[in-house]
Amino acid sequence: MNQFAVAHTRTIPEAASAASVTVAHAMTMATDGAGRTQLSVVKAGGIDLLDLLKEGLLAPTRVVNLNNVPGLGEIIEEEDGAVRIGSMATLASLAALPILRQRYPALAGALAESASPQIRNVATLGGNLLQRPRCWYFRSHAFHCLRKGGGHCFAISGENQYHAIFNNMPCAIVHPSTAATVLVALGATVELMNTAGTKRQLLLEDFFVPVERDLQRENDLQPQEILTAIRLPKVGPSLRMVHIKQGEKDSFDWPLADVAVVLDLSPDSTCKRASIILGAASPVPHRAKSAEAVLAGKRIDEGMAAQAAHAALDGATPLSKNAYKLSLFETLVRRAILKAVA
Ligand SMILES: Cc1cc2nc3c(=O)[nH]c(=O)nc-3n(C[C@H](O)[C@H](O)[C@H](O)COP(=O)(O)OP(=O)(O)OC[C@H]3O[C@@H](n4cnc5c(N)ncnc54)[C@H](O)[C@@H]3O)c2cc1C
Ligand code: SF4
Repeated sequence: MNQFAVAHTRTIPEAASAASVTVAHAMTMATDGAGRTQLSVVKAGGIDLLDLLKEGLLAPTRVVNLNNVPGLGEIIEEEDGAVRIGSMATLASLAALPILRQRYPALAGALAESASPQIRNVATLGGNLLQRPRCWYFRSHAFHCLRKGGGHCFAISGENQYHAIFNNMPCAIVHPSTAATVLVALGATVELMNTAGTKRQLLLEDFFVPVERDLQRENDLQPQEILTAIRLPKVGPSLRMVHIKQGEKDSFDWPLADVAVVLDLSPDSTCKRASIILGAASPVPHRAKSAEAVLAGKRIDEGMAAQAAHAALDGATPLSKNAYKLSLFETLVRRAILKAVA
């Protein structure tokens, strides 16, 4: 790992000004003669950032620490019933938060199942959504692949068992954030602020960048911009939500597949609206539109859940070693729907 200075900032615009680029930009930019990129990047909990530094994938001259910026970790219940989560709130604090456990149990559960207790104590929700992909070729200094500015994807013809089954050309990463699967299903929005203190807000689903739009970044974070908050819309009593994660092992690890189902049910259990998102399936959280359409306006029983689960795989193009994900996702979607209406 290279030597770097640490900047401690006290306001969000100050932090945005101190950070010259995003990590995604930094990883594809040219370096100076000494092989060091003259750049400063943001650190939240530092779990993912320090991994990249230790692997020699990034060598900034300065790291901008967000830990001392007041208010960035605040959780506020807003007047309209929405919940605004400051980007620096840790995964552990959120998983234990009563308002999340009561109103957004699928999110609290997904956070409690992400990584290990030690990591959850340090990792922030903002950093979790902005973490870089886990593709082992991407994480290895030895492979200068497309996403790092190279000319080739090593996974498509190589070891692709953990890779995408949708929209996987020419890069087959899966989005690494487990929380994102649920947040997209809930219709969460993100709030960002620039050096002038100007805010912009957008749906989290639109914040993520599909490969056809840009191969080298997973989200629309701009240089000199800070992710300040994640806003959860108000949930009414007719909303049911479930998240199921399947890993290779029960202890800490990213999922092989995970599914979030949010259903708006009428009193006679007719589905007014369904939101079904597959995680670890595609470079961005994948909306299973055909499955949602199967459920809309129907009373849900076992047959209907099975039909929707089958439709969730519409458009899948598995690679040489990940076709096992098809039946895995079908099972998880069916289970999640039935659990939501139980
Ligand atoms: C063994 C292990 C298992 C794991 N399992 C899972 C899992 O099951 N599910 C899962 O989702 N994750 C998992 N993770 C990933 C982990 O949760 C993330 O690395 C962590 O949440 C990142 O958060 P952080 O606060 O440490 O971010 P950092 O490492 O500090 O930052 C991550 C990125 O976001 C940028 N950034 C951070 N905050 C901001 C901000 N507010 N504004 C602008 N830019 C910002 C940084 O510049 C950096 O690029 C696992 C990690 C490990 C090591
Ligand atoms: S899947 Fe993407 S990140 Fe992985 S090797 Fe291919 S181009 Fe690189």
